[in-house]
Amino acid sequence: MAKKQFQAESKRLLDMMIHSIYTQKEIFLRELISNASDAIDKMYYRALVDDQLVFNKEDYYIKVTADKANRTLTITDTGIGMTPEELENNLGVIAKSGSLAFKNENELQDDHNIIGQFGVGFYSAFMVADVVTVTSRASCSDHAYKWESEGADGYTIEPASKDEVGTEIVLKIKENTEDEQYDEFLEEYRLKAIIKKYSDFIRYPIKMDVKTQRPKEGSDNEFEEVQEEQTINSMVPIWRKNKSELTDEDYENFYNEKRYGFDKPLSHIHVKADGAVVYNAILFIPENTPFDYYTKEYEKGLELYSNGVLIMNKCADLLPDYFSFVKGMVDSEDLSLNISREMLQHDRQLKLIAKNIQSKIKGQLQSLLKDEREKYERFYNSFGRQLKFGVYNDFGMNKDVLQDLLMFYSSKEEKLVTLDEYVARMPEDQKYIYYAAGESIERIKKLPQIELVSDKGYEILYFTDDIDEFAIKTIMSYKDKEFKSVSSGDLGIEPDADEKSSEEADANKELFETMQNLLTGKVSKVKASKRLKSHPVCLSSEGELTIEMEKILKAMPNGQDVKAEKVLEINVNHDVFQSLKSAHETDKEKLALYTNLLYNQALLIEGLQVSDPVEFTNDICKIMV
Ligand code: ADP
Ligand code: MG
Repeated sequence: MAKKQFQAESKRLLDMMIHSIYTQKEIFLRELISNASDAIDKMYYRALVDDQLVFNKEDYYIKVTADKANRTLTITDTGIGMTPEELENNLGVIAKSGSLAFKNENELQDDHNIIGQFGVGFYSAFMVADVVTVTSRASCSDHAYKWESEGADGYTIEPASKDEVGTEIVLKIKENTEDEQYDEFLEEYRLKAIIKKYSDFIRYPIKMDVKTQRPKEGSDNEFEEVQEEQTINSMVPIWRKNKSELTDEDYENFYNEKRYGFDKPLSHIHVKADGAVVYNAILFIPENTPFDYYTKEYEKGLELYSNGVLIMNKCADLLPDYFSFVKGMVDSEDLSLNISREMLQHDRQLKLIAKNIQSKIKGQLQSLLKDEREKYERFYNSFGRQLKFGVYNDFGMNKDVLQDLLMFYSSKEEKLVTLDEYVARMPEDQKYIYYAAGESIERIKKLPQIELVSDKGYEILYFTDDIDEFAIKTIMSYKDKEFKSVSSGDLGIEPDADEKSSEEADANKELFETMQNLLTGKVSKVKASKRLKSHPVCLSSEGELTIEMEKILKAMPNGQDVKAEKVLEINVNHDVFQSLKSAHETDKEKLALYTNLLYNQALLIEGLQVSDPVEFTNDICKIMV
């Protein structure tokens, strides 16, 4: 019998399968079962349009049989079958609808990636088999035909006999190699597990002959081993069930069974969309932060099913980065099973689903915030940081989606508040949303800069997360109220006695200029403070970059050497100021000493390092003796 050659594209795909170093070879079974299921679907549709045909669901099934002695694995279906022409066209020529849209040779190098993510169709059988034999009888025919191939060098088609309509695929499983155990594809437990994992929700029964123990007749404690036909898949996926049929526990079991996480999910969303785009989804908001969540290793994504068949483990395109903590799955009938990564990215249906899902997640978080505050706060403790990153990233593109979900620890009730809550209870004369940034709440509370704002009865948000201030700078204002750092610029709280002090300010001008000269290169200005009450000194900043931001940027791995424009502020109502004044008049050396001391104190209060600690302690000794 003359061998026919594969079409060029097919040969490339085939080569890729045969030489695949991809570890998840098990997916071949998913592919063959999904083809079998498609073939039964076709029978079903034919019966719908043809009155002569009756579709008895019981007559339709898929069967998987392993024969260890002969090293064969057989997948049989009672589907529509193939004519010899169809065998030729469907198996000899790569499906035009496109298992894989190859662009160039380079992409082939990346084979294990492609195979891992997508259905690769019938040829995946060659990942585990030396010989693949397909015997098929089409539904309209009395004759059967056999297609056989040992791989890339071609295939044969010849008449065969088969009693029933449908297709039987026999795989001659490869011998074990040093690196690969092909034997496992003949093991009952392994096959069962693979079917459960990928094809549990196939609509038709997937049967296997399974060995089981059964009590021996006439005996209480003796067992005998028998072969019994079992249906391995559960057929009805949880996401197709009605929400009313399901309990929280069902969802939790699904979450754990699927290994989305080992914790108990905080909340779930069950979507059954049948509008512009038809899909089912079950989404989870986990309780705990996965250990690798804030690392590069973490991969976001949802499981993607096409009509009950898993086609991708982590479809990243379904989740925006700021919701990357969401786990779960999406099943849509509108997606093709064999779709490449590029095609998927541009798939209109998928984009619609992603958009839809994003608003469902936001909605769920909002209702948690509104109705289950305590849960929301637990969520926020785990993933709030990610939301803040989301605000900051992409030039603030997503701030409108996210700003209402943000929370910050606040001075007023010493707990988390939303921006909405903050603004709602602002006194009428308060112009800004105030915040103070620092290492910890304890430290922020002691910042000299917060005293006046607190005294006014204004609430202050405490920023302890690196990202906080950056996120807020991206938002800029909330409900027309600008954000204002207590350590930066004009606080908008004019001390009452401000007017009369302008004369005094003139008198102090020379002193401040002298101090400023003494601190050249360290601060850009020395001035009388409008934010200090009981402390003599503090640092503030002018311009966009605050001192906290400078610290954070410096601490980054490839730290940027940026500098906040620092201002040394002196409390002119403090006794220390009187000492400065008299030193200015009588003893220049003393003024220099005091200036340095105050500057270093201000640094320490800010959590910054003094540049010369030895000099600093010497200076203190000087004033002690
Ligand atoms: P796809 O399923 O994306 O079309 P495959 O490579 O998996 O790509 O299969 C190629 C084609 O071979 C199918 O479209 C179908 O026409 C045919 N085919 C494969 N397996 C079967 C089967 N068990 N019964 C009938 N036709 C089949
Ligand atoms: Mg297929």
